[in-house]
Amino acid sequence: MSSIALKGRVLLLNGSSWEPLAVISVPRAINLILAGKAVVIEQSGHFLKTIRDQFPVPSVIALRTYINVPRRQAHWSRKGVLVRDSYTCIYCGVQPGHIYKGRVLSKNDFTVDHILPKSRGGRDQWTNTACACYACNHKKGDKLPNEIAMKLRWEPKTPRTSYLVIAVGTGPDAWKRYIEIPHEN
Ligand SMILES: [Zn+2]
Repeated sequence: MSSIALKGRVLLLNGSSWEPLAVISVPRAINLILAGKAVVIEQSGHFLKTIRDQFPVPSVIALRTYINVPRRQAHWSRKGVLVRDSYTCIYCGVQPGHIYKGRVLSKNDFTVDHILPKSRGGRDQWTNTACACYACNHKKGDKLPNEIAMKLRWEPKTPRTSYLVIAVGTGPDAWKRYIEIPHEN
């Protein structure tokens, strides 16, 4: 068997709603499929080769039946905000790999900006925080974006779960469409 394929991760969706439930190992995913408890939604393109056969490794699977899971509130975290925003500056749009002032930006150049600054009562909330490059964060300081003519390129939203936003944000692109980021009300 291919060890690379075995080490992969599989996104597990709930039945019928297709909401993401967890990120699981390939062996666990294959067990669920072989047991008839889950179906393959997307293939990874990798195969597990056995002597006689080859088994396509899934990337996304869904349970056959819907299970009731308690709604977990997404805990705010700096890492979660950066991953949610794909390390893209909400003000100028730069990303890791872009060149700024002759230097290639890395993930370490990105910070979490409080849109309503903490000094003015802004809180650590998904809808009040976004990824910002160091230059924009510094420029914004203790101001509101509209006070210094800075525009948000998107509206920060609350992800379903903090665990999944990080796991899925760092996973294959094929996973991203399954993460719904509803409005926070
Ligand atoms: Zn910026």
